[in-house]
Amino acid sequence: MDKDLGNNSMETLCKTCSVQLEKIKNGGRFIDNKEILKTPKKVFTANIPLRMDDGTVEIIPAFRIQYNDARGPTKGGIRFHKNVSQEEVKKLAFLMTIKSSVVDIPFGGGKGGVKIDPSKLSESEKERLSREYIRHFHRFIGPEQDIPAPDVNTNEKIMGWMTDEYEKIKGKKLPGIITGKPLSLGGSKGRSYATSLGGAIILEEYLKEKDIGRVEVAIQGFGNVGSNLAKILHERGHKVVAVSDAEGGILDTNGIDILDLFKKYEKDGDLKNMEGSIEEISNKKLLELDVDVLVPAAIEDQIHEENVDDVKADIILEMANSPITTEADKVLEKSDKVVIPDILANAGGVTVSYFEWLQNISHEYWTEERVNKKLEDYMVRAFKDVLEISKKEGCGFREAAYILGIRKVLEAEKSRGNL
Ligand code: GLU
Repeated sequence: MDKDLGNNSMETLCKTCSVQLEKIKNGGRFIDNKEILKTPKKVFTANIPLRMDDGTVEIIPAFRIQYNDARGPTKGGIRFHKNVSQEEVKKLAFLMTIKSSVVDIPFGGGKGGVKIDPSKLSESEKERLSREYIRHFHRFIGPEQDIPAPDVNTNEKIMGWMTDEYEKIKGKKLPGIITGKPLSLGGSKGRSYATSLGGAIILEEYLKEKDIGRVEVAIQGFGNVGSNLAKILHERGHKVVAVSDAEGGILDTNGIDILDLFKKYEKDGDLKNMEGSIEEISNKKLLELDVDVLVPAAIEDQIHEENVDDVKADIILEMANSPITTEADKVLEKSDKVVIPDILANAGGVTVSYFEWLQNISHEYWTEERVNKKLEDYMVRAFKDVLEISKKEGCGFREAAYILGIRKVLEAEKSRGNL
């Protein structure tokens, strides 16, 4: 067991990574030393005293981890979740390192996390927590150093508070400190749905490659990523037959009217009691539907040893980070199913974050069309690069994406004289 990574050995972190590292070693000149990717470069932790509305103070554990900065400033979201731990943030920061490299944006990888159930906080408690997070970590982040963004349970509004707090502390305007900000503070057009649009582009590139037309899709998760993906795929003529949120899901084999669903969800905040031929289903059943494409777009470890054999979809598009456990991934690798991995499928978010940062540091703002066109260019190129490696190496997309991503990080480490 790798001591530094605890239960997450290097192999667990990047799933089939050990094989890839060996391959790179055999074929290339980069790796004499893979130690450099085994541990994060910097780990910051804090216990934040949070003043609650009733006057009491709660101590909230918080983290910011800068995994690797060889290719540029570290980049990655901050999540608010009750299960956040240092180990989890470390693993997600590692994934960000590889993801930025796969889409070839000049960033390293980082991640932040706060161990809290945000549904139990009032708006003012959430705002105090967001500002406190910045007060605790502002020395270590910066537009040329480490750039946060939204992640699970954090959004534009929270990024706005954080940007404001950072700028107040530094006494100047520095919009490039955070991406995923409100448009009024220098956010980018198209950022709010970029992860989903990137996923749709990758899926359609794959379908084109395989000569497959329209597909039937089931999506687990109706947050920012899942809901926007449902809308985009519906608009592009695919049939979204099932969606779910944490409370459960709905199924309509004729295809859900997504625009109707959006209206209803905005009004009631849930997926229940939809009109028409809709059946209510559990999250478990959604993962087992016999559809063309299954999209886990919620949280980690949703497809695991116990349910992997029940997955019937031919294609799994990982829009959440790490939704398939290592054990389940091994089973899928041996099957005829295709997994399009998180570090490629959901990289549209960080790609448009890069565009946002470019706009912030150049003070020149882009049209939505320009953002989306550039996103398409980056995603298509990344897909083609991964496809080429997968054909050359005779491996799946996950392994190919790791080979591509790790190779470029190690190349940068080598150029820095670290290898
Ligand atoms: N949280 C998103 C991710 O996991 C976006 C990160 C970013 O934009 O920096 O990819």
